Order: sequence, then structure tokens, then C-alpha cells
Amino acid sequence: CGIVGYVGHRDAADFLLEGLHRLEYRGYDSAGVAVVEGKQVSVRKRVGRVNELAQLLEGSPVRGHIGIGHTRWATHGETNDANSHPHVGGNGEVILVHNGVIENYTSLRTQLQGLGYVFRTGTDTEVIAHLVALHLDEQIKLGEEADDPQTCLKAVELSLRKLKGTYGLAILFERHPEMIIAARNGSPMVVGIGKDEHFVASDASPLIGYTEEVVYLADHEMAILTPGSFELMHRDTGRMSPSVQSLEQVS
Ligand code: GLU
Repeated sequence: CGIVGYVGHRDAADFLLEGLHRLEYRGYDSAGVAVVEGKQVSVRKRVGRVNELAQLLEGSPVRGHIGIGHTRWATHGETNDANSHPHVGGNGEVILVHNGVIENYTSLRTQLQGLGYVFRTGTDTEVIAHLVALHLDEQIKLGEEADDPQTCLKAVELSLRKLKGTYGLAILFERHPEMIIAARNGSPMVVGIGKDEHFVASDASPLIGYTEEVVYLADHEMAILTPGSFELMHRDTGRMSPSVQSLEQVS
């Protein structure tokens, strides 16, 4: 339902929680965040209000400068803590949040289970996490460089081609703790450009006060964000130059 993401120098959990509060007006049943802490990505999520997630984080803090957050409005899989986003793919290599509905998730899940992927939730979203983990693994086996961000981008692109349905996505990679890949098809995503920091969200409200410069993703576009860089790619035509709008123009 609502997505936020941050790469930069601020406390990620603070920004994500504030952003999730600003997205509350859209309605939701659960909330969660994933924050990169050194070499690991820590996930906190639960059913209920963003305030309850804030309490969970008070008791069990996550500290880092890169992270993603989500408010869920359940469409597939009951409303419970496990089904809340973020979701984890493979053995933890991929961590993502998703808005929208994957229509062919049943057949994808069966295929992925056949390949040994273990499903931990009842959501449609979890197939995306495992698909990206699978394609990452395949790219590395084909000889692509595991440490090259383009390998992650290729894995995302190949995965998205297999999905039927709608998605806004923000994805973290265990091996690339400085990076978020965002993608859209039928579910809005906007990137905010800052100085040595980038933001992403499902609408501009979390970005207000942080940046004036935004880029709205179009369908089949993907963004690779690090603190110091922002690349925009189209699934079919490759790299694009982003059309930057000012938030004032937009509102
Ligand atoms: N279909 C996903 C789920 O049920 C995402 C729902 C949403 O957009 O919040 O978990």
C-alpha cells in the first residue's frame, strides 16, 4: 500500500517511520522496515499501526543509513506479522517491499518450490523476493560479477519479466548494502534527489521537506539508487536520462 526508502547519511529508521506516518492516510493493516546494519539487513515488522512498529523499534532498534519501509493493505495472505513486508528471498540475499498484486503467483510459487525455495509467508509478494534471488544466483553462475550492481539490476529485470500484475517495488541486496533498486508497473513510485542522499516513495508526501527535486517512474522503469548516484533504466530500451520535476510544480 505505501512504500518508503532511503540511502544516504541520515538515520534511516527515523526517516522511514516518519514517511510511513505520512502515508498512513492511505489506510493499511501492518507496517515494517528493513535497515542495513553493517553487513546484515535487519527486518522489523508487525500487524497494527505505525506507532506500534515505532514501539517495536524502541525496544529493538535498527541503526543504519540505508533502508526500506512499507505499510501493507493485505490482498493475498492473511493479516499477520509474517505476511507483513519486508519479505526476504533465497537465504536472505534479497529483501523487498511491494505494492500491488501478482496475478500469477501460484504458478511461480510452485516453480520456485520445485527449485528448492522455501516459502515462509502466504503472500503473493514472496515470489518476487525468491525470483530475484534465483536470477541473481543464475547470473553469478553464468559468470556475471557478483559484486557488480548491474548483476542485481539484470536479476531484477529478468524477474519482472515473469510477473503478471502490478507492482511498486523497493529492493535491498545483502551483498550491496549501499543500494536500493526501485521499480514500477501500474503502482506509483517517485524518487527524490538530495545531496549525497536519495529517497524513494509511493507518493511524494514522505519527501516533502527533504528534497524539492523528484522523478516519477513510468511503467517498466527501474531506478538504482546509492547515496551519490541515481540511474534510471527502462526494461526494453536501457538507460534513460531522468526528467526532474520540482515538488512545487507537482503539487
Ligand atoms: N499483495 C501484497 C500483499 O498482500 C501487497 C499489498 C499492498 O499493496 O499493500 O502483501
